[in-house]
Amino acid sequence: MRAQPQASHFVDGRYVEDTAGEVFENVFSATGEVIAKLHAATDAIIEEAVASGRRAQKEWAALAPVERGRVLRRAADIIRSRNRELSELETLDTGKPIQETIVADASSGADCLEYFGGLAASLNGETIPLGRDFAYTRREPLGLCVGIGAWNYPTQIACWKAAPALAGGNAMIFKPSEMTPLCALKIAEIFIEAGAPKGLFNVVQGLGAVGAKLVSHPAVDKVSLTGSVPTGSKVYAAAAAGIKHVTMELGGKSPIIVFDDADIENAISGAMLGNFYSTGQICSNGTRVFVHRSIKERFLSRLAERTASIVLGDPRNEETQMGPLVSHAQREKVEAYIEKGKAEGARLVAGGERVAPEGLEDGAFIAPTIFADVTDDMTIAREEIFGPVMCVLDFEDEDEVVERANGTEFGLSAAVYTADLTRGHRVIGRIEAGTCWINAYNLTPVEMPFGGMKMSGVGRENGRAALEHYTQIKSVYVGLGPQDAPY
Ligand code: NAD
Repeated sequence: MRAQPQASHFVDGRYVEDTAGEVFENVFSATGEVIAKLHAATDAIIEEAVASGRRAQKEWAALAPVERGRVLRRAADIIRSRNRELSELETLDTGKPIQETIVADASSGADCLEYFGGLAASLNGETIPLGRDFAYTRREPLGLCVGIGAWNYPTQIACWKAAPALAGGNAMIFKPSEMTPLCALKIAEIFIEAGAPKGLFNVVQGLGAVGAKLVSHPAVDKVSLTGSVPTGSKVYAAAAAGIKHVTMELGGKSPIIVFDDADIENAISGAMLGNFYSTGQICSNGTRVFVHRSIKERFLSRLAERTASIVLGDPRNEETQMGPLVSHAQREKVEAYIEKGKAEGARLVAGGERVAPEGLEDGAFIAPTIFADVTDDMTIAREEIFGPVMCVLDFEDEDEVVERANGTEFGLSAAVYTADLTRGHRVIGRIEAGTCWINAYNLTPVEMPFGGMKMSGVGRENGRAALEHYTQIKSVYVGLGPQDAPY
């Protein structure tokens, strides 16, 4: 098998297998070929991962923070030096084109490790003068963290969770999505090569049941999930039972608002990027594109023209701009939404059907799809599709579009395109979303906190803000005089 790892799990510094675990297959969705077979973690593997994670955490937290930072920065350098190999594996794992993975996946993981490696030594507390006495605070690790990933950005998600956790002195057990199990194993290998203690970053594989066992394990202190809202509700509830810390990076149905004074080519670029990159499988995608009525037809005709030139094909080919969906099941889900869009009266402007690039007839491909005349109540305007399906809605004035943009349970992202920067800031200030852009879309540099409001999540990844979610404050009161007591 073309991408079979040495074993399913990476625990305590080495690959481990337990063939008693349920078998699941990893499929390259461009061809339908099974590229690896793995075993889900058994209870024995989970217990080993927990015990080794707890051991490693103590050793790691005892290091000077600057030494911890150095390990993370070394891991970043190793990832960069292996970018091609890691990107090729990511392409096999996800079906995303190499043109994307070579710039957006391992390299984003490396940026994150470098950034938090640099911040590790800056995790200071404060001193609080109290007259005669004083107090101080310490930022302490949470302990053993569990990271659970979605399938769209396996390497990036593993690093976005591991980097702030490790910088804060924690250990992590990471469970990749069962759809994309391969790349996190490589990150685990790289941490060991970079000098991390064995067990600091363990990878265990499996479906939701393995994730659920990790979340409710009494020795686990924090859970960070990237996944859908329904999974988030379950994981949040299970973590609450053990009063565990959580970070929830969940789904979205984000608005892109294009005013009549916007640079139309720019706005179209943003809308295409925010709907078609990674074959539309991005949580922060701007899948509700609100276009001012006066420019709607101009916007749509140019959008359709540019969409027609997207190069769809074998994701291993450098020229390919769009690959297949992650799986055939995901394609069926997306197709069902397309059918709903048609049935509910949206106007199909582009795509809407399967495509079969030559030699890839068994791949999970679908054409980039655009619906116009979408109304707020249509299913395709309300539910997260997670595929290359753009909904264009039209609007007349600012108050109306703000209210409609906010009329969703989600609150992950939003963007405004306008030449009037006063309006840009004003509108973004009124939008209920955690990650926003003005005249840009889906840029998520590690320096900027990323995360959602409302049902889209709790907590933030990236930026200094992430460290707050991986450390806890201890307050220490220091008495410098006799102890007061009423007795
Ligand atoms: P999913 O919710 O089906 O699965 C996510 C992960 O949770 C998988 O690893 C899965 O095995 C695990 N899981 C499932 N049930 C569980 C349970 N009961 N307990 C513990 N773990 C469990 O999501 P997906 O289909 O893999 O990914 C797509 C979703 O992820 C979309 O909704 C997308 O918006 C979201 N996403 C969010 C972000 C973000 O940062 N906000 C990023 C990427 C993807």
